[in-house]
Amino acid sequence: MNIILLGPPGAGKGTLSNKILENKNAVQISTGDLFRYNLSNKTPLGLKAKEYMDKGELVPDQVTIDLLWDKFDSLETKENDEKIILFDGFPRTISQGQALDDGMKERNQKIDMVIYFDVSDEILIQRLTGRRTCPECGATYHLVNNPPKKEGICDKCGSELIQRVDDSIETVKNRIEVYNNQTSVLIDYYSKKGILKSIDGTKKPDEVYKEFENKLGEIN
Ligand code: AMP
Repeated sequence: MNIILLGPPGAGKGTLSNKILENKNAVQISTGDLFRYNLSNKTPLGLKAKEYMDKGELVPDQVTIDLLWDKFDSLETKENDEKIILFDGFPRTISQGQALDDGMKERNQKIDMVIYFDVSDEILIQRLTGRRTCPECGATYHLVNNPPKKEGICDKCGSELIQRVDDSIETVKNRIEVYNNQTSVLIDYYSKKGILKSIDGTKKPDEVYKEFENKLGEIN
């Protein structure tokens, strides 16, 4: 089953993904994580993506689409159809959405559901600028909503937490603007296909997960 998590940066897509991965037979494809992985390994793709990521701009479509299918096809060879594949942070433009539809058709598959996270810009800014991330294990925290037990240190692996370069206030504002200009059109795109389900992204992670399970029940 193929499910897209659609919503602005900071809406809680990553948090919901993690809960689904813990509780269900699922795998996640996060283009943001794939770019960051490439960047930390200093691959040519990672270095190219960095130019855009640091400014909060989108990496060009074709680069992103190729990356997506590389990852998707590497999963397909090993996974069975029962598995939930979560698309986190992809698609982000209409042309990515169309490429996803075309590629799914070629593979005799389809997108089964799109979960749209509804959250105001004000909450997004508060969440993103307070976010702290563990560069080693990927755990995320929030200075106010979910602080680590020891300030600046990851509870899970003891590494020093960092603020992502693109979580600074200026970049966050740009990322939200980019979302509003280029990505939010996908809400209409999937709504017209009849596969869009909205959830209230301002709720607590457990409640968001419960809403997700309800939506999943509706299509099963
Ligand atoms: P994220 O972790 O999903 O917020 O992604 C971090 C950054 O990676 C974004 O601000 C973009 O620069 C880049 N990125 C991730 N996914 C995409 C995508 N689908 N299209 C273009 N750029 C992306």
